[in-house]
Amino acid sequence: MSEGGLSSAETERYRRQLMLSGFTAEHQEKLKRSTALVAGVGGVGGTAALYLAAAGIGKIIMVHYGRLTRSNMNRQILMRDFLIGESRVEQAKYAIEEINPGVEMETCDERLSPALAESLLEGADIALSARPNFRERRVLNDCCVKKRVPVIEGAMNAMEGYLFTVIPGSTACLNCLYPEDNPEWEELGFPVLGCVSGMLGCLMSLEAIKVLTGFGKPMARMLKFDLQDMSFRKFNIVRDLNCTVCGKVAASTPKSSASGFKSGNL
Ligand SMILES: [Zn+2]
Repeated sequence: MSEGGLSSAETERYRRQLMLSGFTAEHQEKLKRSTALVAGVGGVGGTAALYLAAAGIGKIIMVHYGRLTRSNMNRQILMRDFLIGESRVEQAKYAIEEINPGVEMETCDERLSPALAESLLEGADIALSARPNFRERRVLNDCCVKKRVPVIEGAMNAMEGYLFTVIPGSTACLNCLYPEDNPEWEELGFPVLGCVSGMLGCLMSLEAIKVLTGFGKPMARMLKFDLQDMSFRKFNIVRDLNCTVCGKVAASTPKSSASGFKSGNL
């Protein structure tokens, strides 16, 4: 992939988003030069990866352990019925390559360990946290704080969900808000309607595009939603300066061009 400029085919592919007020060729080029680590390619992370790819991100690294089951199919829009039993992350790669062959794809069919996270985050400008368990979310959060990589953190259960962005050294991290695991989280078997997980995935990809390119205004608070009655609320979140993960991390320019996100705007 070329480092600078957009080809005529790319200009045509992204023509409709280049019409957005304030979204310029420079934003598109920044996106093209960006790499996102997507942890989890289920109903949430798979949708987020799909929209990052459609928008023209340069590279996606997908990490997700496991094979496709029939009960995945109500929400995992990158998957195909005839491939039930096969690796999910490989199918996600093929599906995205068919939709936008200009996106470089890397996959890893493993659970996140600290060493693996450290390795996968090399060269990543942002991470999207969409694993359905606290253990892997904490591994990702800890490693991103250490390496100063912003994280889009999103989770859902049934009709409810949340979304917030971690800018290490500036905003609250996962551990600031959830120092203890939520005992109500159950990795397998929680209820999901595909359009609910998909909506969260879309919002996560949107926030990632903002942080990566400087377009728009990234959300500096936590969004909580309950789609049972379409309620959306934003809450202030406060960084815990005694947090065992990020408490000693000083504010600095994050790795990405998160120009819309400034320290102290919570
Ligand atoms: Zn923290």
